[in-house]
Amino acid sequence: MSQVKSDLEIAFESEMKKINEIADNLNLFDEEVENYGHYKAKLSLSILDRLNENEDGKLILVTSINPTPAGEGKSTVTVGLAQAFYKIGKNAIVALREPSLGPTMGVKGGATGGGNSQVLPMDDINLHFNGDIHAITTTNNALAAFIDNHIHQGNELEIDVRRITWKRVVDLNDRALRNVVVGLGGPSGGVPREDGFDITVASEIMAVLCLATSIQDLKERLKRIVVAYTIHKTPVTVGDLKVEGALALLLKDAIKPNLVQTIEHTPAIIHGGPFANIAHGCNSVIATKMALKLGEYVVTEAGFGADLGAEKFLNIKTRALGVTPDAVVIVATIRALKMHGGVNKNELTNENALAVKDGIQNLEKHVETVRKFNVPVVVAINKFISDSEEEISVLKQWGQDNGIKIVLTEVWEHGGKGGVELAESLVSMLKDPKEKFNYLYELSDSIENKIEKIAKEVYGADGVNISPKAKKQILEFNENGWGDLPICMAKSQYSLSDQPSLVGRPSGFKVEIRELKASIGAGFIVALTGNVMTMPGLPKKPAALNMDVDELGRPKGLF
Ligand code: ADP
Repeated sequence: MSQVKSDLEIAFESEMKKINEIADNLNLFDEEVENYGHYKAKLSLSILDRLNENEDGKLILVTSINPTPAGEGKSTVTVGLAQAFYKIGKNAIVALREPSLGPTMGVKGGATGGGNSQVLPMDDINLHFNGDIHAITTTNNALAAFIDNHIHQGNELEIDVRRITWKRVVDLNDRALRNVVVGLGGPSGGVPREDGFDITVASEIMAVLCLATSIQDLKERLKRIVVAYTIHKTPVTVGDLKVEGALALLLKDAIKPNLVQTIEHTPAIIHGGPFANIAHGCNSVIATKMALKLGEYVVTEAGFGADLGAEKFLNIKTRALGVTPDAVVIVATIRALKMHGGVNKNELTNENALAVKDGIQNLEKHVETVRKFNVPVVVAINKFISDSEEEISVLKQWGQDNGIKIVLTEVWEHGGKGGVELAESLVSMLKDPKEKFNYLYELSDSIENKIEKIAKEVYGADGVNISPKAKKQILEFNENGWGDLPICMAKSQYSLSDQPSLVGRPSGFKVEIRELKASIGAGFIVALTGNVMTMPGLPKKPAALNMDVDELGRPKGLF
């Protein structure tokens, strides 16, 4: 049997077009495209003004069932579907998040799709893509430095050093940095205090960048960020420190979306990358807006399963974007369905149609959830070579019996050609007029009610247990006037519940709300459940062990 090529090998064998050719196909003006080498560019925000009166394209959101640790191919299907639209003569654009070095170096690998459905240049996108994530890291840490300096220089704002909520960040999985002490070394070293690091993609700066609609809005959001509380327990903001201008300046290029291409030369806009388990999980509002102005069909992705990324896309991002999706694609794999049917993680390639049948309950819950928003749903089976005919027919039969459209996609193996049926189904589905979108909660609902609605309606929980600490925070947040913000749940991606080991469609559980975090700049309240880490750790054998670079600068081991 011939060896299956790695994503990196396929990417390197693919010929890219010069990025200006891709930009020309989008009818962009020269001055709107800033080249970063031959194959990457940044797009000027002026495009949004120029095309303001243009009608938006159709927005298709790709999400998935609760994934295995390897991922279920959401990015792969997102890219493949955009390629498929191109194949059937539709002007499509894919809008994706930027990969974080945490998972790239850890277990999961990068986030540029896979097989014959990838965005290129995959190595650049997975490593230091146009410097955006580094700019976010620097902006976040500049703010930390401004806070410590303010305290060192006399602490005019009376910041309580025990109540600083702003953490430093680095875009790596580095558990040793979760808790640190800063300010050691005597009076010249500042004021000693406990601090900690999060991964950059969990930084509020990332969320702010991704939800901002313009540079002005970016500044206003930055200004509102709460970094600490005073000795009188009142919030201290970036505006109080008077550094929103400096922070916005550090982000002046990072706020511009990046243009690249797929293996089949479909335009791809990749911008911003908050995780979906500890942040809101979707690419920037600016990138999606731009894609909607430039394309007839925009295929975008929200991280992890529909309980996380899609819920936040639908309840948080749409409120900033002002547009709701025309359709949602839920990616399911036979291997993940088997996992939800109780099969051990190292036996997922063994044929087991019964387990697939049992695992469908996880998919069923996600379909129900998306339908609650009143958005049409299609299930895309992301076909793996190990899937058997019988396993696939079990899933298709279930779809037929329950009136759920299920389409087999082979975009990993065949590129756009493998997704033509999915693209055609969507084209015909989107001919119907769009129905009224239904938010799962009103912003005016109380913080407790919003959390409870997500837990019950999306996770299938019986309710929530709110810790005494979180209850106290709710009272304080209400007093500060933050009760009307949407909720960003921080939860395990592996289960519908907050306990990673509960596969399938768990019932009879309550979600434990450990603590809240006020992301006032981003404009949401983060509710931390269970043990979700805002700084992940590396596994025993990280992907980094296989990585290398040759004398010509060509990478090895990226996937
Ligand atoms: P997600 O977006 O759901 O996290 P990705 O699209 O990033 O998942 O895919 C994760 C990995 O799985 C990638 O390395 C990709 O090449 C691989 N993959 C995706 N779909 C398939 C498939 N159908 N067959 C084999 N490998 C696949």
